[in-house]
Amino acid sequence: PLRPIPLIAGNWKMNGVTAALAEAEALATLVATHGVARGGEVALCPPATLLMAMRERLGRSGIATGGQDCHARASGAHTGDISAAMLKDAGARFVIVGHSERRADHGETDEAVREKAAAAVATDLIPIVCVGETESQRLSGEAVRVVERQLDGSIPDGVPTEGIVIAYEPVWAIGTGLTPTLADIAEMHEAIRRRLVERFGEGGHSVRILYGGSLKPGNAREILAVDNVDGGLVGGASLLAKDFFAIISAL
Ligand code: PEP
Repeated sequence: PLRPIPLIAGNWKMNGVTAALAEAEALATLVATHGVARGGEVALCPPATLLMAMRERLGRSGIATGGQDCHARASGAHTGDISAAMLKDAGARFVIVGHSERRADHGETDEAVREKAAAAVATDLIPIVCVGETESQRLSGEAVRVVERQLDGSIPDGVPTEGIVIAYEPVWAIGTGLTPTLADIAEMHEAIRRRLVERFGEGGHSVRILYGGSLKPGNAREILAVDNVDGGLVGGASLLAKDFFAIISAL
């Protein structure tokens, strides 16, 4: 099967005010000057307050933007929430759903994540659906089973397989500087691919499966080269243009 076009997405989390857009602009310049390896796609997911201004600063660099969450409904009485249509209106192409921080901080279940992903697809946004085991689940040998259950529950039926992205993010690797071994990453990404093919048939091969969790310039090349790793979701190292560009360059 053809390898999908790789994607490197940056998750700024709750970091970044207007001044931080200088980094987005610097990234746009680096990408415009040097290009992206393997024809990959690049996206930045800033706090929603920066989406429109970031879209303007990125200009025609080809770098896409994304939200970090969306509500399952299209509009209505949901104070503090943001709909997929609003992200789209702000220029977004992607939206992260079911990040482990949202699952933990806001009690998001697989079902809630699935509804958010469905709302994104219905709005013509590409959801980046996050899954990943905790440290105790890894230690007790349940990691693959946990992730399969999250995949089954968090991915809506009837989605175009090119229009959905999975991010495997072991919770214990996020922001800790720890990463699984390359063999463990390969095992998990293969298991995810198998599950997607079981569910979607050949189309399962076109779903991009990103790795996330302490990706850095120093480990990106070896991790991004693992089979079935179709790019990365990058937290801390996406905040500075030079670090993020080093990761993009490792594709
Ligand atoms: C993330 O939270 O999506 C992430 C991968 O964070 P970090 O790169 O900082 O571990």
